[in-house]
Amino acid sequence: MANSPENLAPEIALTRLKDGNRRFAAGFAALASRGWTALHAAGQWPFATVLGCSDSRVPVELVFDQGLGDLFVVRIAGNIVAPSGIGSVEFAAENFGVRLVVVMGHTRCGAVKAAIEASRSGDEPNSRNLQSITDRIRPHIEELVLGQQEISDELYRRAVRANVRASVDQLRHGSTLLETLVDQGRVQVVGCVYDLDTGTTEFLEPKPTRSP
Ligand SMILES: [Zn+2]
Repeated sequence: MANSPENLAPEIALTRLKDGNRRFAAGFAALASRGWTALHAAGQWPFATVLGCSDSRVPVELVFDQGLGDLFVVRIAGNIVAPSGIGSVEFAAENFGVRLVVVMGHTRCGAVKAAIEASRSGDEPNSRNLQSITDRIRPHIEELVLGQQEISDELYRRAVRANVRASVDQLRHGSTLLETLVDQGRVQVVGCVYDLDTGTTEFLEPKPTRSP
């Protein structure tokens, strides 16, 4: 396990992200605009790993007002957990000793909407590659969608949250390495939802029990 001056405790790392998002949402972002310096070539000591969506409106460093070298970021449509994503999170934990992992979903996520629509209509995306994304979301939202006549804003919000919680669960339990670190209290995995309307992030409370 790598050690660095930036091996922040998860609680401190979380506070740093929440403070950064407050600055961002208030229009006072400062750190994300810091430019290149040669210092970064010497190595990296990110203090958190973030798994976020590819959506162009949710750039992770900007949303949390962090600069170069601060965050180890994995972005994929729908912030789904695929093996390569787990591997990236493991890499940051092993090589840089990153102790906080955040899954960040966002309101009105197109990937979640595509999964909702596929669940309601049974029509799959045309591309098998796209389907590999919606297939990872559908099991976690189908219960919500069942019997619903329309995609209400509330249903959409709940589906986004359910998808974030599912990714958190998969990161906690889908990797022996991460599960061990979580059990040891070395790493925390938390979920949050970024709100496109307000620029704020809501961190989700952990579920009381593990889903099957
Ligand atoms: Zn999205």
